[in-house]
Amino acid sequence: MQLLPKFDMKKDSDSLLRLFVKTAVASMIIIISLAGYGFHEVFQRYVISNAEDDSINVSNALLAEEMEKIVTFGDDGKFRLEIKPGQMPQLDRHIRRFLAPFGIIKIKIYTPEGRIIYSTDAKIIGQVNKRNERLARALAGNFDSKFESKDKVLDLANELKFDVDFVETYVPIRDNAKKSIGSFEVYLDVTQYRDQSRRAVTLLLGILTLIMGFVFGVSFFLIRRGTRDIKEIQEILRTQAITDSLTGAFNKRQILLVAHKEFSRASRRRSKGLPEFELGFVMIDVDFFKKVNDTYGHLAGDLLLRELAERISGSLRAYDTVGRFGGEEFLLILPGSDLEQSHSVAQKIWKLIKDEPFVLDGHSVAVTASLGVAAAQEADEEYAQVLKRADDALYRAKSCGRNQVL
Ligand code: GH3
Ligand code: MG
Ligand code: MG
Repeated sequence: MQLLPKFDMKKDSDSLLRLFVKTAVASMIIIISLAGYGFHEVFQRYVISNAEDDSINVSNALLAEEMEKIVTFGDDGKFRLEIKPGQMPQLDRHIRRFLAPFGIIKIKIYTPEGRIIYSTDAKIIGQVNKRNERLARALAGNFDSKFESKDKVLDLANELKFDVDFVETYVPIRDNAKKSIGSFEVYLDVTQYRDQSRRAVTLLLGILTLIMGFVFGVSFFLIRRGTRDIKEIQEILRTQAITDSLTGAFNKRQILLVAHKEFSRASRRRSKGLPEFELGFVMIDVDFFKKVNDTYGHLAGDLLLRELAERISGSLRAYDTVGRFGGEEFLLILPGSDLEQSHSVAQKIWKLIKDEPFVLDGHSVAVTASLGVAAAQEADEEYAQVLKRADDALYRAKSCGRNQVL
């Protein structure tokens, strides 16, 4: 049986702080990861969108420049893409020279059937690219861009480039009537933005970490201060819940809990044949206390009770307990004391009260008390039986003229 509901104040507030630290660290990891990912995505979209614009502009300019070599006007009155074999070497030279300043790695020109009629990679000219959804979208008149990375690519000067980021854009080719007659596929090198992106993400995450570290740090100290205040308040409330405010002794509820606990402990020791199974109870009641109140006033009565509690507790051993049982009644619990030893304790207290007058508001007042003693016996099943015997003894002491121990 517990004296009070079980709660470990230190553990509770410490675990609250630990929970806060765990939550803060987890939140920081999640926020930093999401922010890093989000910022990287935004930056990449920005790079893709810029590369798409550049690819469209370059493609249109190239088309305008080389129109005569790429587009023919057919007998059916329609424009179509066609490069005459004899013109290919010259066209290829022109295109490479034209594209050189724009950071383009590769370019292809497709007919509406998906046939490659020109590529800076000559090997694939003539191939037909079926089942290419992105090309199909471009042939339907839409721009389409995608970010990609490759370990190595061949650039326009036929030199190998390693670890390259590029944006691959399909740019539709339209005739005068805005009808799609083919598509460019342009590979634009964007590797130079990689370091920029890394630096920007690192800077952003650094700032974010500092801000969150500051916010969580300040919160940690505020919560720690708050939990310390709560601990102090809990300590005060706990003390108030178990003590009598006038005398500082245990209150009735608490002294009965102690009685119950000590009785259980003593019974257990007795049943196991262990020593120190004795347990004594002493009930103390001031004689004619009402008269003190009536003569010297209620406040003087209070002083007497306070002084009495001090005298009683000053005469007890460390493991004895005193509690205020009623108005001017006190109960002592004496673990390890048999009836005889409990009687000696009671005698000592009785003398302490009667031998020295109480000084109340400048008046010296002679006070006596009656005391009833009992000790736990083998046949007792609960502490109330011992308590009743102590109370009966007190009643007899009162009836037999007061000022005595029975
Ligand atoms: P007896 O010898 O039979 O014990 O007589 P008594 O006057 O001591 O006993 P009684 O029970 O008739 O009176 C107890 C008085 O204690 C009554 C009550 O007003 C007073 N009392 C109870 N609590 C307090 C308190 O906190 N302060 C003061 N000053 N008096 C209290
Ligand atoms: Mg009394
Ligand atoms: Mg009384």
